[in-house]
Amino acid sequence: MEEKLNGIVLGGVSYGENDKILNIFTLEKGTVSAKIKGVKKGGAKLKFAAERFCFAEFVFSVKSDKRTVTGASLIDSFYPVREDLVKFYCAGTVIEFIKRFEIENIVSADMFALTVSALKKIAYGNDSPRVALIEFLLSALKTVGYGLNLEGCHVCGNHIDGRIFFDCFSGGFSCENHKDGFSREINYATYLALRNVEDGETVGEFNAVRCLRLLDFYLINKPEEKLNSLKELLQLATEEE
Ligand SMILES: [Zn+2]
Repeated sequence: MEEKLNGIVLGGVSYGENDKILNIFTLEKGTVSAKIKGVKKGGAKLKFAAERFCFAEFVFSVKSDKRTVTGASLIDSFYPVREDLVKFYCAGTVIEFIKRFEIENIVSADMFALTVSALKKIAYGNDSPRVALIEFLLSALKTVGYGLNLEGCHVCGNHIDGRIFFDCFSGGFSCENHKDGFSREINYATYLALRNVEDGETVGEFNAVRCLRLLDFYLINKPEEKLNSLKELLQLATEEE
């Protein structure tokens, strides 16, 4: 049977001498695995289709539930992410997020749309790739049920001014009166920057890095997911400072 699916390559592992097994996030079927033959040989026609970030319409031959890529028409390679380290790690974080949170064969059209939109902004956008990543993470966390609550104190509901605390177990923020043993004080500018990104406003690089540090801390503590590309991205910011 032949099957056509629109998908983005999340990664692949070597299989035999010249083949690879790809992990592809598809619009129609969620994440799927597929073998692709001969792509490690020089000049292989489908080499591009085995590259991480490749967005293509894939043609598979399906035999007893196993897919083999037989063709692919490129939609976007998001090429600029390969030429800039910040873009590379931002796009890598998006891909790793999908790998950790998307379950095999479960369709998620919303997450697919978020992923394509984030990769486009990171690759080609005029604005900061870090801000595009924060925007993605805020929406994607919401989609998988781990959204942050940025609407004031999560206990009393009041607007927060002055000192502010983040509770990584609820994903909420609290005022000084409602902090508890698990809350950690954060910089007010980080909270404001997160709200600005959520409202579609841009924020400076310095505050974008602060937001990503908080999101990294949250991902490690709440869903317990460590995203290596995000670590590298934050490491890069530390070196720039
Ligand atoms: Zn409160």
